[in-house]
Amino acid sequence: MRPDTLTILRCPYCGGRLTVDETVFHRFDGDAAIDAVLSCQCSQFPVVSGIAVMTVEGVAETAREQVADGDPAGALRTMAGGGDEGAADRFAAAIASPSATYRDVVDALGPEFAEARYFLYRFSDPTFLVADAVVRALGQAVLGGGGRAIDLCGGSGHLTRTMAEFTPSTVLMDWTFVKLWLARRFTAPACDAVCADAHVSLPFASGAFRLAVCSDAFHYIWTKRLLSAEMLRLIGDNGAVALTHAHNSGRDNPSAGMPLAPDGYRALFEPLDSRAFSERNLLADVLAGRIDLSRRDDERSLAADPAVTIVASRRDSVFAARPLEERRGVRGELRLNPLYDVSRTEAGATLRLRFPSGDYERECAACRTYLPEELTLDGSVLSAVDKSRLTEAVAALLSRRIVLDLPEGYA
Ligand SMILES: [Zn+2]
Repeated sequence: MRPDTLTILRCPYCGGRLTVDETVFHRFDGDAAIDAVLSCQCSQFPVVSGIAVMTVEGVAETAREQVADGDPAGALRTMAGGGDEGAADRFAAAIASPSATYRDVVDALGPEFAEARYFLYRFSDPTFLVADAVVRALGQAVLGGGGRAIDLCGGSGHLTRTMAEFTPSTVLMDWTFVKLWLARRFTAPACDAVCADAHVSLPFASGAFRLAVCSDAFHYIWTKRLLSAEMLRLIGDNGAVALTHAHNSGRDNPSAGMPLAPDGYRALFEPLDSRAFSERNLLADVLAGRIDLSRRDDERSLAADPAVTIVASRRDSVFAARPLEERRGVRGELRLNPLYDVSRTEAGATLRLRFPSGDYERECAACRTYLPEELTLDGSVLSAVDKSRLTEAVAALLSRRIVLDLPEGYA
């Protein structure tokens, strides 16, 4: 936890500022707190492996006692297991290997880590393509002059990674500690991570951020009035908020949560200019190399779409059409999309699309609009991909998501 983030951190209960308790065990890396205990006027919270745990619920109190007693490894085990000894053991065994990948750790966490597959294929799913493009558009609109961005209920940090291209001050918040750990190790190492509950006041100062995004999660939050008001509080007068992939209550969804109608989401962000966008229309934009937030989708297309994106801001410049920026280089490691079965031959390889499950195939059916069923790649292209070299042919495959630019050590 960087000092810059510590200055905007607030107690979710009393709203007070936090300071490192120097009377108990604390460990810093440079000026960043790695393991420490934070105090406000009402409570104490642990920082475990750099992640601030801003709650007194669940196993947080046990972890705080372990940090205070000088047992940070025990605290990490407690938070990662969340009360499940088996999960804690498997996590500890997986991370003991320095070469463990994101995929290895996710696999080790087992089938109870239900969304594992979903996270593994995240970078090419249609929901992510839209969310990524919306964050890029909003990053250009509101982060140009600096400012922080926050990814709320952001899981293991896939969208946080996009935010980090626009600002060095990105914060990822989620309720599941182990996802935050994965984000800091693999997906978005530059972010600061905060383990906190989106059903209570958010543990940050008012106006601390320019951009607040909640992707594919708002429909699982019961206290929508509170979370939307908190998002508005965080961005102050000059920022923007976005809900991407908010399920539409008027349409069936295999994992619906507690959705609202598009207008219900939009109304939560009054009095700002708040607009709802059909995700199908946004995906069509993305596949055409642009994102158009100046459009006003009609009620019929919104009502027909299983998911919508909501954007709210006081800044007119947010609601504009923008081209998606050309890729300038490789950020991580180039890999063939894991949705492909790859048969390598001497001359190259044949790729066949294979979905990990029927559920995934139904939920992400729009993948088929940009991922071909089958294709062959010649040896020179494969070799460039293997060496993470961005040739013209590789750039074309990247734009079709047949090749992905994944975080180092991801799969
Ligand atoms: Zn407090």
